[in-house]
Amino acid sequence: MKTNSNSQQFHFHDFTLHNYVSLLKRAQEFYNFESFTDSIPPGSIILRHDIDLSILHAFKMAQIEEMLGIKATYFVQLHSEFYNPLDKTNFGLLRRILDMGHKLGLHFDTHFWGINSEDQLEKFISFDKELLENIFEIEIDVFSFHNNNEFTLQWSKNRIAGLINVYSSYFKEMGYCSDSVGYWRYDRLEDILKPPLKFDRLQILIHPCWWQERALPPRQRIYNLIDDNNTYLKRLWDSTLKQFGAKNIDWEEIY
Ligand SMILES: [Zn+2]
Repeated sequence: MKTNSNSQQFHFHDFTLHNYVSLLKRAQEFYNFESFTDSIPPGSIILRHDIDLSILHAFKMAQIEEMLGIKATYFVQLHSEFYNPLDKTNFGLLRRILDMGHKLGLHFDTHFWGINSEDQLEKFISFDKELLENIFEIEIDVFSFHNNNEFTLQWSKNRIAGLINVYSSYFKEMGYCSDSVGYWRYDRLEDILKPPLKFDRLQILIHPCWWQERALPPRQRIYNLIDDNNTYLKRLWDSTLKQFGAKNIDWEEIY
């Protein structure tokens, strides 16, 4: 059956939170978890999370890492169609992620700004960096590009607008593992955590939205996330009207 073959080919069962715990524990046997700096020592993993769809999913992942004593960097978008980091709930969750000892980076969207030159790149990375810094009263020293293309991948400088570039030549020299769009794009994480180790330094990109309670196809994982968010917003609407003592009128009943 097609569904079964996709499940095996794209390792649906890898992307559960339960398996995430197992993979992190295995990684801890061989590597130290380090933050993004200009010089990464051998034997290090840098754990990077680009938040593309849901801060709630990022928060759940941050809790798992805290339980294991692991620190990661969460890269936040300021122009996402899927979440607003300034809304009350998301702002609170991101603050709690910081309180756990994780870091925030800028997940920068060149497409939003329509950037086509280095000057514009510097200008708008600085602009978004300052916004993020002012909102959370922190310093941001690293960024990642959202939705890479030929334009973004040509920038291999170690720093742009003063921020560490996770796609620089320096970071490209080390091992890289990514779950972009819900499946392993290069090596499967489980495979590269088996001795003999293929890499002495490793950047792992994990998008929190792809890791859920149940093993599902990537498309269904995102539909779930969107449905859960809709349910949350409906409950928020009902509770808000109740809080203000307003009538919440349906076809037949008033709540
Ligand atoms: Zn992204």
